[in-house]
Amino acid sequence: MVEEQKYCEFCGKKYEGKFYSKGSNYTVLKCQNCDLLWSSPLINEEYENQINSDYFGEDIYLSKEKGQKERFRTQINKVLKLYDPAVEKKSIRILDIGSGLGFFLDVCEEEGLSSEGCDINEKAVNYSNRNKNRTRLGTIDEFYETDSFDIIFALNLIEHIPHPKKFIEQCGRILKPGGLLVMETPIQESLFHVSARIGDILTGYRMNNYGINTNGHIYKFCGRTFEKITEMGFDIIYKEKIGSPLKEILGKTAYMSKKNKIILKIILPFVWLFARVTNMENRIFIVLKASK
Ligand SMILES: [Zn+2]
Repeated sequence: MVEEQKYCEFCGKKYEGKFYSKGSNYTVLKCQNCDLLWSSPLINEEYENQINSDYFGEDIYLSKEKGQKERFRTQINKVLKLYDPAVEKKSIRILDIGSGLGFFLDVCEEEGLSSEGCDINEKAVNYSNRNKNRTRLGTIDEFYETDSFDIIFALNLIEHIPHPKKFIEQCGRILKPGGLLVMETPIQESLFHVSARIGDILTGYRMNNYGINTNGHIYKFCGRTFEKITEMGFDIIYKEKIGSPLKEILGKTAYMSKKNKIILKIILPFVWLFARVTNMENRIFIVLKASK
């Protein structure tokens, strides 16, 4: 049986989530202290099955391999510039959490960086390990020794994790002093989210389109939530808004009429441009430095 998630995972039982919106069989709640949004219950049984499933969309990932790797390369080089210049590149140890098919690790290897990954999907781990042993089946946990890594990448991950506070604390433990935690996640300060909010309120919470649900993104962060992360032993040293709203909106057009789809395709480039100019893109790319 799935349980309701009344309290904020970050702020604890002192703060009960306030109603924000509702879905077919879940509620979206908002923390009054850190503004974190979550689905209650957090995850449903379908999601648990999906994690252990034989199919996790690998064909989609493989078709995007080239583009993804280019993006990873840019991100890795950006982060390396933010790291302690006294540390030699060849001695830097990187952990990629939620490493999937291993594209990120491929890029690290091409860049001459020592890296390893972990993931909870067995099939993905097998694919990543097909000609080398570099990915562990499991989550970030006691397996890793304290002060092990220079940089941890957790891209598009934290929004899926039921216990994000525990996750951040584990990252803090296994990072070396001054080590970096790099995250990418959808954010509330986006044009996509703000438009969804207006639509939702106007329709009496019938247009829940935040991308928060019990079998995918169970959390949505915002600037104020990240301030709480800084209370967990990290300093924010870099942040950047990324990602156009196009994909997210287009992904939800399956049920639209043909005519509406055409109109949408005409409008979308303008929406994207507006998001860029107003710095209201979909996701945040954020680098946190362990302050220990
Ligand atoms: Zn909170």
